[in-house]
Amino acid sequence: MKKIAVFPGSFDPITCGHASIIRRALPLFDKVIVAIGVNTLKSNYFDLETRINMIQAVFADTGKVSVQSYSGLTIDFCKQVNAGFILRGLRTSADFEFERSIGQINKQLQEDIETVFLLTQPEHTALNSSIVRDILRYKGDVRKFVPAAILPFLQ
Ligand code: ADP
Repeated sequence: MKKIAVFPGSFDPITCGHASIIRRALPLFDKVIVAIGVNTLKSNYFDLETRINMIQAVFADTGKVSVQSYSGLTIDFCKQVNAGFILRGLRTSADFEFERSIGQINKQLQEDIETVFLLTQPEHTALNSSIVRDILRYKGDVRKFVPAAILPFLQ
């Protein structure tokens, strides 16, 4: 059976932190599906299509990454796409506590799906999409924080 991992998030926009976790996961899985969770109550900075296009541009060099959107429970999406793994990144102890409860509950809901955690690279610990959005709002320079392939989408 193919090893398929789902990497869920809102990716508004994808950052170097997200991209690094995905790249580092490639040797571990046959396929990584970047899954953009759609929450109709949440307003986003970039629309869904742009977020999908940005992620596809970052991983245009590999056939192992695909991008899809989903709504509802992540484990239900995993079942739909035959994924046995949920991939998550850990930045801080706060991330760990948050992820621990979601991971443990997901395990109770769906025994055969494992959550796999990769520790962030130290240089990405402070990075998140919300900081990038703040910098963009005030026309700051985000080049250190996002993959170069998404820069054309920011103009
Ligand atoms: P969003 O895309 O809305 O920021 P999350 O914060 O849930 O969504 O991020 C999706 C996944 O990416 C989570 O597993 C999160 O830990 C991971 N992640 C986010 N930022 C980083 C980062 N800077 N380094 C490593 N992993 C990260």
